[in-house]
This record gives sequence, structure tokens and C-alpha cells, in this order.
Amino acid sequence: QYNFEGQVALVTGAASGMGLAAARAFAQAGAAVVLTDLNKDAVQNAAKDLTDAGHQAIGVVCDVTDEDQAAAMVGSAVDTYGRLDMAFNNAGIQAPPSDAADESAEEFDRVNAVNLRGVWAAQKHELRQMRTQGSGAIVNCSSLGGLVGLPERAAYHASKHGVIGLTKSAAVEYAPKGIRINAICPGVIDTPMVSDMLEGQADAMAEILKQQPIGRLGQAEEVAEAVLWLCSPGAGFVVGVALPVDGGFTAH
Ligand code: NAD
Repeated sequence: QYNFEGQVALVTGAASGMGLAAARAFAQAGAAVVLTDLNKDAVQNAAKDLTDAGHQAIGVVCDVTDEDQAAAMVGSAVDTYGRLDMAFNNAGIQAPPSDAADESAEEFDRVNAVNLRGVWAAQKHELRQMRTQGSGAIVNCSSLGGLVGLPERAAYHASKHGVIGLTKSAAVEYAPKGIRINAICPGVIDTPMVSDMLEGQADAMAEILKQQPIGRLGQAEEVAEAVLWLCSPGAGFVVGVALPVDGGFTAH
């Protein structure tokens, strides 16, 4: 459906879940893909699976909480493929539910270091390359938790609301320079993050399904599809949006 031949895509948190699905989808659409993740073995295996299937891909270790590593991952993309056209800043972690009156500062900082500052650092260094090219598309990963508030999620929801703020600010700044920046807000998606969190909790899963107008969890590939669309010329007039891909969760 999409043709990204000759273009280079970078994905953070690409060893699992939505990041992996997006990396595969970019590769299938013809892009050279730079998969980056904290998890060295998993990201290198994921890149190898893609090259074995005839695609162009490299796996790069990057902890997005370290700005130097975020700069280096963009450097790897440019050193290997000469440019950077698209980025999906997806790496993120969940926080265990916590009463807002009891959540620790350490937990707040841990979650925000990955989910918010990590997106900020990746976007910053991607923009440095894209502005030299005068073109590019960035998609930042927020969440339904960036649009609404659920109880016992203060740190996580703060991080995901923050992603929308940094997306909008950079989007209006860089649209005149040929670079489109948007955010995506997945609902409850069937990835290791969710299965780990809900393991053995049938009641919690039933409760979540009740809140999903569509009556099922989302699939990582359905989020990847929206990411590719936001990067594609078809979304050429879409700037600074926070797009829900959530089966209607935030519509009610
Ligand atoms: P996942 O746990 O399956 O994958 C996340 C990946 O990010 C892992 O490979 C992990 O190693 C990597 N990662 C973690 N910390 C990192 C760091 N500091 N630097 C680099 N990589 C790091 O999760 P997922 O469900 O695919 O989630 C992807 C994104 O989507 C996250 O930002 C998450 O908050 C967001 N999200 C998930 C859901 C959901 O229901 N699964 C819903 C809304 C938003």
C-alpha cells in the first residue's frame, strides 16, 4: 500500500510490540530501517530477520534516556544509509498502578525519563538531521493516557500528555521547514507490555474489554498502519495531531 523505496526509517523500542510491527511494515514498504532498542540481542535478531527476508535493516543498541545514545543512533542511520526520512519514537515503559498520593519521585522520574525525555531526545537529534535535508516525518508515541486520565496512573499519564505537548510545539516550529511531526495515541494493544501487566488478571482484562467500544484489544499491526500513514505523502497536510488508534476508547 505504501511505497517508501529509497527512504530511511528509524524506530525506537523496535525489539517488541508496536515498534517491531512498525519496523516490519516500513521494511515491507521498501524503506531501509534502523531498528533501535535497549535490548541488544532482540533488536539485532529483529534486524537480522528483516535482512534475511531481503530487506535493508540494521539493529542499533540505544537507551533513549541517554541523550548521547539518542544522538549516536541517528548518527548510525546517517552513516549507514546517508539520510533519515521517517522516525517513530515509540520506546516506552509502563508503571505499576499507584495511588497519586503515594507514587514516589523515583518512579515518576523513571517513567518520564523513558516516555517523555526519551522522545524529546530522539526527536531533537532526528530534527538536526532532517533540517539539513529540509524534509522528514516524525511520529511520537503517546497513548490514550495522553488524552484522558485514568486513576492510579499519574506518572504514566503525565509522560504521555507531555509527549503531545512536545509534538505540537515542534510540529508548528518545523512544518514551515518541510518536516511534519505528529503523535499517535494507541488504546489497549495486545503487546508484551499489556500481557505482562495483565498476566493472570482475568477480571482486569474483562474490565478493559468492557471499556472498548470495539470489543477487543488492538493489534500492533493496526498501530503500525497508522504510523506509516502519518509518514506517507497521503498525510501531507496532517501536522501536530494526536491521533487515537484505540477502538473508540477515548470517544466515550
Ligand atoms: P513493549 O514492551 O512490547 O515494547 C517496548 C520496547 O521498548 C521494548 O523492546 C523495550 O526493550 C524498549 N524500551 C524500553 N525502554 C527503553 C529505553 N530506555 N530505550 C530504548 N528502548 C526501550 O511495549 P509496546 O506495548 O509495544 O509499547 C510501545 C509504546 O506504546 C510505548 O511507548 C507505550 O507506552 C505505548 N503504548 C502502549 C500501549 C499498549 O496497550 N500496549 C497503549 C498505549 C501506548
